[in-house]
Amino acid sequence: MIKIKKFTFNPFSENTYIVWDEETREAAVVDPGMFDESEQNEFDDFIKENSIKLKHIINTHCHIDHILGCKFVKDNYSVDYYVPEKDVPLIEFAKAQAGMFNLSLNDDVPKPDKFLSEETDIKLGANPVKILSTPGHSPGEVCLYFDKEKYCITGDVLFKESIGRTDLWGADFNTLISSIKNKLLTLPDDVTIFPGHGEKSTIGYEKINNPFLD
Ligand SMILES: [Zn+2]
Repeated sequence: MIKIKKFTFNPFSENTYIVWDEETREAAVVDPGMFDESEQNEFDDFIKENSIKLKHIINTHCHIDHILGCKFVKDNYSVDYYVPEKDVPLIEFAKAQAGMFNLSLNDDVPKPDKFLSEETDIKLGANPVKILSTPGHSPGEVCLYFDKEKYCITGDVLFKESIGRTDLWGADFNTLISSIKNKLLTLPDDVTIFPGHGEKSTIGYEKINNPFLD
């Protein structure tokens, strides 16, 4: 069984998730956004207290708020770092992204080890992490789906009663809407979504209540 823990980090109130296999404790951190020492400690403490074996960093996409903690995690844990290939320019220009929001970034974001696609094979214990290609908010964004538990980590694609913005580099509104309709709204209604910002929701709730999806 997959377990999931949400942290809300950094000045953008970004949701960082740890997902782990209950049996083997193998885990991935999704969109590590820890920004200061207290957020880093909160993350480390949780890992220790729950005997979690962190194996992977997975970025749904590479906007600045979702990558602020990648260097910290890479420096302190033995992990493979996965990103969508089309988002690599966002990593290379991380300092410029930070500057756009008046943040100063001292260190470069680490280079990814592996790229994500729908064919990527990642497992936590015996549980496959299914990758859904859902571009539109960023050029390469993906969502992560755990079909047994009916959990979907939706990054900045789909939020409770909202969707990702499409005014940033490489974004496209129509592409985003078709990603949501073809990849997310086709999941069962009782799938819980865990977005990159704000509260969790369900696919069924969003079908009825999301004003962008009429
Ligand atoms: Zn974003």
